[in-house]
Amino acid sequence: MSSSATSPLPTVDVLVAGAGPAGIGCALALQSVDSLTYGVIERGVVGQSYRDWPRWTRFLTPSFTGNAFGAIDINAIHPETSPALLLQTDYPSGEAYSHYLSKLVELFELPVVENTMIESVARGARDEFVVTTSRGPVTARNLIWAGGEFSAPHIPEVSGAHLAVHSSQPRAWEPSDGSRVVVIGGYESGIDIACSLVARGHHATVLDPESPWEKTGSDPSLTLSPRTRQRLRVAQARGALDLVGAAAAAISQPNGSYTVTDTTGTHHTSTAQPVLATGYRPHLGPVQHMFATRDDGWPLLNADDESTLQPGIFLSGPAVRHKNLHLCFIYKFRQRFAHVAKVIGERLDRDTSALRSWKLAGMLVEDVSCCDKECVC
Ligand SMILES: Cc1cc2nc3c(=O)[nH]c(=O)nc-3n(C[C@H](O)[C@H](O)[C@H](O)COP(=O)(O)OP(=O)(O)OC[C@H]3O[C@@H](n4cnc5c(N)ncnc54)[C@H](O)[C@@H]3O)c2cc1C
Repeated sequence: MSSSATSPLPTVDVLVAGAGPAGIGCALALQSVDSLTYGVIERGVVGQSYRDWPRWTRFLTPSFTGNAFGAIDINAIHPETSPALLLQTDYPSGEAYSHYLSKLVELFELPVVENTMIESVARGARDEFVVTTSRGPVTARNLIWAGGEFSAPHIPEVSGAHLAVHSSQPRAWEPSDGSRVVVIGGYESGIDIACSLVARGHHATVLDPESPWEKTGSDPSLTLSPRTRQRLRVAQARGALDLVGAAAAAISQPNGSYTVTDTTGTHHTSTAQPVLATGYRPHLGPVQHMFATRDDGWPLLNADDESTLQPGIFLSGPAVRHKNLHLCFIYKFRQRFAHVAKVIGERLDRDTSALRSWKLAGMLVEDVSCCDKECVC
């Protein structure tokens, strides 16, 4: 696939928006469908979000090569690959994981167009998707939106929130020496940055009304991961970490330092900018209008991860939610790449039998309603 401003591309069967793990994973599954024309459009380069991660961050889901025994590396997006094998590390950095994604593009010769922004999407006269990009128009019979969330940080409605910095920003991780930092939000990203700050000689106070550090359960989307708990124990032992089970109500900057007041009226001093570790919000960019919205603000999908408003447009990645199920980790949302490819292939009357290898590898869940079981211990 190539692009130019003067010669629009012919209509492809499937266009994938975004070259992160969701977009590249879907492209790999689409490659297994016979005679399908498809391509990926990326506004930056392959794995752009990972390249933009603050340098102190790492994966919290461990990579390990168990593929030969059917236990596919938990961070892999293709059954025959393993980030642990390629990167020789168990908790990859963003830069390392972007290298894994680029390697897949090279190895499987995926058609990815980089440095091309998808600006708008409309429905054409023949029901095709007319995709306007920074390099000209492209048309597609089906569209998979895999644009991710990293560019849409969630800023809570707290008075003075503009004084704080979101944890996705590198400067949140690099306060001046010996700072006291208030971190708002105590799930993975909040505990991650607090532990990182404490390890580098700072003091951290984490505020969260749900006290996530006290919760246990089988779903790491709802509780802290073992790696994070392990880091938390180390940080607590240093005596420079306070965990407060209350919400931030207001942020002010009375005299150089910042004050975060919680809902009990207690004031917490932050000598560096307070950090908003409040996650990401639903953001589908130029295809937002093509999806209905659930009561909680996330996109409403049918059982095939497809828009309920516009047949033919699918969602892939951490924004996929079915009832209470959040597919927010790679090992969860990768289960749907082959399913979406299968649905599209069958509708176009193509042979999808090669997707069986995804199923055999345990990388294809067709009915997600079975995925909420608790472990016995
Ligand atoms: C610090 C940190 C640690 C994490 N650790 C883990 C972990 O241990 N395990 C795990 O499973 N998950 C982890 N996650 C979450 C994981 O990184 C995300 O779920 C994952 O990146 C989502 O993949 P994606 O392909 O949907 O989005 P992204 O990786 O964000 O890719 C989306 C791509 O779409 C492109 N794009 C967006 N808009 C457009 C447009 N209009 N036109 C063209 N291209 C566009 C972007 O440039 C980007 O390259 C972590 C996240 C962070 C921030």
